[in-house]
Amino acid sequence: MSHGFDTRAIHAGQPPEPRTGAVIPPIYQTSTYAQEAVGSPRLGYEYSRSANPTRDALQECLAALEGGARGLAFASGLAASDALLRTVCRPGDHVVIPDDAYGGTYRLFAKVLQRWGLEWSAAPVADPAAVRAAVTPQTKVIWVETPTNPLLGIADLAALAEVAQVAGALLVVDNTFASPYLQQPLALGADVVVHSTTKYLGGHSDVVGGAVVTADAGLGDEVAFHQNAMGAVAGPFDAWLTLRGIKTLGVRMDRHCDNAERIVDFLVEHPKVSNVRYPGLPQHPGHKVAAGQMRRYGGMVSFEVVGGEAAAVQVCERTEVFLLAESLGGVESLIEHPGQMTHASAAGSALEVPGDLVRLSVGIETVDDLVADLDQALR
Ligand SMILES: *Cc1c(COP(=O)(O)O)cnc(C)c1O
Repeated sequence: MSHGFDTRAIHAGQPPEPRTGAVIPPIYQTSTYAQEAVGSPRLGYEYSRSANPTRDALQECLAALEGGARGLAFASGLAASDALLRTVCRPGDHVVIPDDAYGGTYRLFAKVLQRWGLEWSAAPVADPAAVRAAVTPQTKVIWVETPTNPLLGIADLAALAEVAQVAGALLVVDNTFASPYLQQPLALGADVVVHSTTKYLGGHSDVVGGAVVTADAGLGDEVAFHQNAMGAVAGPFDAWLTLRGIKTLGVRMDRHCDNAERIVDFLVEHPKVSNVRYPGLPQHPGHKVAAGQMRRYGGMVSFEVVGGEAAAVQVCERTEVFLLAESLGGVESLIEHPGQMTHASAAGSALEVPGDLVRLSVGIETVDDLVADLDQALR
């Protein structure tokens, strides 16, 4: 019998350590392992780029949380994306990416992989027909974020899985914003999930990491080969911090959602706010799809400020509890101006974001303090 999500978050890949019964996996802070005889590593461990028990525990846990065959942990979310793309794509292949992709993902395609002969085009992933129209005979991957960053658009994963299947392409879902607690892309037909574990999975803004989880074991083995061959692995302490964060993922996500819902109610009524983007709002264009594929709507909220870019920048600089910082998904609330911060690399491109946009990563502090802080910053 398969256990529930929170049981898996706490136990998957982490049986008590056999020698002492330690209930938490040790940090195997070692680069190499003494062998019994030439060519006979114990339990397959010979060198920590190839395998490390702390990383293995995290990888098993990640696979269990996403319902995948294989999980692989990397040094960052972008290292995970890079390893996956270089596993499944060759020069001349084509990838469809979201027209409001995470800035770093856009930069990886436009400034790095394009030079190695990978073609890409951007499409609005909220519209499956537009994604189908962007597919070419060379398309190997349809890359999707949902909710998208920072505009919080929603992609219909079951519909896109069909588009990918007809195209003979892989559907890859960046599940960073939702986390596996709120959304299970593999169950909806996706082939691969990628994460920046830096965000909700780690959850405490104290570690940078990434993950790939594949539905298919054979594809997982190919990515594992590249993980070792390319070398951007998660270190043992980083893996341990991420495992520690994951244990509370479910309770944290519920509080992130509770707080985000209260803040959305406040912003929607505020005269200085011209538009609120949150998939939980009934008037959000992706609300119905989100309701069908997400448990709740997450901790990310974006809004547009009356008075344009200058006013938006001012709000970001005036908050006190919300810290002005990039990144997201930690227990503390963060505020940022995507146009000049996370998405500055997309300026002048089709992926440029509105100047009056503010993005919140709603933390798990006392929600009255968060509302009061936004109220004084908007005044
Ligand atoms: C942060 C982020 C990434 C990149 O992850 P890093 O850990 O910073 O390399 C990718 N996708 C999304 C949606 C992100 O928020």
